[in-house]
Amino acid sequence: MDLFFLGTGAGMPAKLRNVTSIALKLLEERGAVWLFDVGEATQHQILHTAIKPRRIEKIFITHLHGDHIYGLPGLLSSRSFQGGETEVTVYGPKGIKEYIQVSLSLSQTYLKYPLSVIEISEGIIFEDEQFTVEARRLDHGIPSYGYRIVERDRPGTLLADKLKAAGVQPGPIFRKIKNGESVTLEDGRVIEPDKFLGPSQKGRIVTILGDTRYCENSRWLAQDADFLVHEATFAKGEEQLAFDYFHSTTRQAAEIANQADCKRLCLTHISSRYDRQAWLELVDEAREVFPETDIAEDFKEFNIPSK
Ligand SMILES: [Zn+2]
Ligand SMILES: [Zn+2]
Repeated sequence: MDLFFLGTGAGMPAKLRNVTSIALKLLEERGAVWLFDVGEATQHQILHTAIKPRRIEKIFITHLHGDHIYGLPGLLSSRSFQGGETEVTVYGPKGIKEYIQVSLSLSQTYLKYPLSVIEISEGIIFEDEQFTVEARRLDHGIPSYGYRIVERDRPGTLLADKLKAAGVQPGPIFRKIKNGESVTLEDGRVIEPDKFLGPSQKGRIVTILGDTRYCENSRWLAQDADFLVHEATFAKGEEQLAFDYFHSTTRQAAEIANQADCKRLCLTHISSRYDRQAWLELVDEAREVFPETDIAEDFKEFNIPSK
């Protein structure tokens, strides 16, 4: 599981930072990539990476500001020409459906793959045997959501030697035990899976927030996250400015990570008023509150290791 930053700037594209898009690479887990926001020229950014558009399975839109959605119709369209045949599901606030329908129909764009668009409200918006994704409203003037992606715990590795020693031969019984089922043998003995499996592997938690002021729901979404992505449009000391424009400071992002007991924090959505030199200061001031802080840059990747 890796987080790849395709765009990390606030408001409009700048030379060093394109507008927001983040790829959660789940290649080992499900051979898929999930995108969070699709700012303008996200597809151009993807051209410089190993990400295959046909692998994009889900797209989560945090809010409808242009710097988070202007790249969406183009990306959906190009995916047809890049070998994309599998379904894509887009999740986003009310209005995302109309935006996509109007963009595609006026430009007479016909996709060669099924597209479903789900307008979300707070709560669990997606769930399968691997992941749960939960959304909550943030504080950003227009509806803006944060997403909490929770991987399910995985059963431990099968202790094959121990099973063989108990007289069980490899085959269907091994598979059942691996899946956590108890098995009754022909001689009447019951094999309980927990005695023949190593410790279960805890699932990871990744929290990706849309634009927001410092707010309680951010803390809720980030609780115990292995990796938190929080906007930091402004530097410490600019709290009034951040409040007025419905954004956060570096320090406020770090406070959330700290209160929520996160493992790591990555700052993104950085205003173009800050240059490379200033980025270092932005990280430092956040680290005073939360030491495990990094600052996103376009094309930077972070691994989120298994526990
Ligand atoms: Zn923004
Ligand atoms: Zn915004």
